[in-house]
Amino acid sequence: MAASETLAVGRVLTPHTTIEDAVLAIEDGRIAAIEERVDDADATLSFPDGIAVPGFVDTHVHGYAGHSVCGDPDALVGIAEGVVGTGVTTLFPTTVSESRSVLVAAAEATATAVERDHDGAAVGGLHLEGPYLDPDQRGAQDPDALCDPDVDELRAIADAADGTLSRITLAPELSGAMELVRTARGRDIVVSAGHTAADYDTASRAFDAGVSIATHLYNGMGAFHHREPGILGAALVREDVTAELIADLIHLHPAAIELALAAKGPERCMLVTDAIAATELPDGEYEIGDLDVVVEDGESRLADGTLAGSTLTMDAAVRNLVQSVGVGLPTAVRMASTVPARAMGLQDRGRLAPGLRGDVTVLDPDLRVRATLVDGEVVHERGDD
Ligand SMILES: [Zn+2]
Repeated sequence: MAASETLAVGRVLTPHTTIEDAVLAIEDGRIAAIEERVDDADATLSFPDGIAVPGFVDTHVHGYAGHSVCGDPDALVGIAEGVVGTGVTTLFPTTVSESRSVLVAAAEATATAVERDHDGAAVGGLHLEGPYLDPDQRGAQDPDALCDPDVDELRAIADAADGTLSRITLAPELSGAMELVRTARGRDIVVSAGHTAADYDTASRAFDAGVSIATHLYNGMGAFHHREPGILGAALVREDVTAELIADLIHLHPAAIELALAAKGPERCMLVTDAIAATELPDGEYEIGDLDVVVEDGESRLADGTLAGSTLTMDAAVRNLVQSVGVGLPTAVRMASTVPARAMGLQDRGRLAPGLRGDVTVLDPDLRVRATLVDGEVVHERGDD
């Protein structure tokens, strides 16, 4: 890792502008310079019609290509090495609601995976989705694993993660939730609200206490009502809350995405995949935790029809935003890279600017991933097809 490359590309998206015919120089894993190209002589990599964008940051991913987030570090590394083909350069492996022992094992595996040398996306840290979730909004979370917040349990999982527990999604209306929020924030763990039936006031108190993300906005929460706006209404109007969006056009109608963007602005909306192990695999029968799911036409559902994660990839989410929702590419890229990096407190990535990590995704003009660099090293390059 920490390699040096000089990329010649057709376009670079920097935080404030787009530079045509550019050279992006990376030295020892860090971006050294971005400037207009004078000649190709020094380029070590050349993508004449490529668009260099900041590598995508997926903060909510349960699995990829046969690997599920679990207690096996090899599975986590397998996911990290797979998702670079989708332009992801940092990922946060995400558990579903499971027993304490399973979550502790996932925490230990994350601590191992973060340290391991591999050719994949950086493992940013573990995201616990549950088990402190509301049974009334459980979606595809195992009802047998759901429970009230347990501060001692969170401490045990955080200790097992050895500093790599980054985030927890919980339902703020549950008994003991606010104490758990304080404990998590005291350990610098990002807290998000999800799978929740919280009303507006409860949600507002949680956001005041430091809950900073709404997990898959709209999905796994009550619907908006003009007299009972609920947590959805609170998340839409709060400027200090970042909303996750699953932009597979299955979980959300394009108008729901437009509404979130209009209410919050793109600086507070981030793309996530919520992807499961079936992603990039054929339709068929799979599992999430202890639950069986059936994937048909790429839609992952429980037997009763409940949506169960997705088979979405970050590059497809960006294409959906641009091609089906009508969002400009620079905005879609910010929602895939800049906003999630900021929401997770990562200041060294999420933008292409001198001094930051050399995490770069090169897109073709049709927005398919051509190459991916992590820490300046080429970890994925698609051949001509
Ligand atoms: Zn999820």
